[in-house]
Amino acid sequence: MPDYQIPFNKPAYIGTEKQYVSDVLQSGHQSGDGNYTKKCSAILEQALGVEKVLLTTSCTHALEMAAILLDIKPGDEVIIPSFTFVSTVNAFVLRGAKPVFVDIRPDTLNLDEEQLERHITPKTRAVVPVHYAGVGCDMDRIGEISQKYNIKVVEDNAHGLFGKYKERWLGTFGVLATQSFHETKNFSCGEGGALVINDPALNERAEIIREKGTNRSRFFRGQVDKYTWVDIGSSYLPSETLAAILYAQLEARDKIQQRRGEIWRQYYDRLGEWTAANEVRLPYTPSDCEQPFHLFYLLLPNLGTRTRFIQALRDKGIYSVFHYLPLHLSDMGRKFGGKEGDCPFTESISDRLVRLPLFYNLPARDQEFILETIIKLRL
Ligand SMILES: *Cc1c(COP(=O)(O)O)cnc(C)c1O
Repeated sequence: MPDYQIPFNKPAYIGTEKQYVSDVLQSGHQSGDGNYTKKCSAILEQALGVEKVLLTTSCTHALEMAAILLDIKPGDEVIIPSFTFVSTVNAFVLRGAKPVFVDIRPDTLNLDEEQLERHITPKTRAVVPVHYAGVGCDMDRIGEISQKYNIKVVEDNAHGLFGKYKERWLGTFGVLATQSFHETKNFSCGEGGALVINDPALNERAEIIREKGTNRSRFFRGQVDKYTWVDIGSSYLPSETLAAILYAQLEARDKIQQRRGEIWRQYYDRLGEWTAANEVRLPYTPSDCEQPFHLFYLLLPNLGTRTRFIQALRDKGIYSVFHYLPLHLSDMGRKFGGKEGDCPFTESISDRLVRLPLFYNLPARDQEFILETIIKLRL
């Protein structure tokens, strides 16, 4: 491995994190659900205009909570794009569900809503759209179909915090939505996540599941005089130390998003000519979507050109990376019946996509060097 002068990602660092973490260390309250956790939930609830957001230890865990909350059981089917992270599917498989993989749209790389209906069976319980790169799925159509068949929508919004579809925040369409604060995401506390609850009927049970299946939250609100085991659950609360780091970043969300937007637009504008001359495709954002600049990708003509592209950047010390491998062709996916040709766009795009460094603290001169390196390339 060469030393990369320019990494693919560095978690955002604002500066206020240290002070907030030191507050926590001095406060004597390091476990979950203290002041910083409350402040993070409040910021997210206010910003998204939703009633309830619970911080979790990861987006993976928020997805697991979603599967428990929807009472997903063995034999149930859950529809998921094949082009996503393993956690989107694992959370439901852990409850015994069978994943049904759907292909993506070649333009947005999101679950193809036109293929949704024909994958629905009497066993279908949920569909989990992923807003790839934070560009919204067609939530109108997905909402319509899921209502028609009485299927729940869970948005895996790991990429999409502060993105919009038809002027409405991503994460507010599904009955539940999940966020990630992993270090690769726009806002990070290393490992962390959140569950957005858009049906108040689920609020109380969500708190219970998150608190090891106990009604501890009600106890702390004085609603019951002792707390006890009332349901299944696990430990999905992040520590206050992590919430303090996250709070610093959420507080600075406008600054972080503005800088990410600048970097993204710089790539988009400066690579236009080069991409056109080299049969490379730029990312596409439909006019009714506002994206949160989570990632910048290019679609190369084929696997060979992508391999040469990644190598050429690597030779200059720039770390660019590909993304999801088709889940239906993974070892686990094949156990559920996945085979070549099931999701042709997913199969093709996963061979051709490359992501460029995009992070808050990326120095402008480094981006300039990345751009100059790419523009000189002949594929
Ligand atoms: C990052 C990511 C996850 C998992 O997030 P964690 O917080 O690391 O558990 C899930 N789904 C998608 C689409 C992601 O990008």
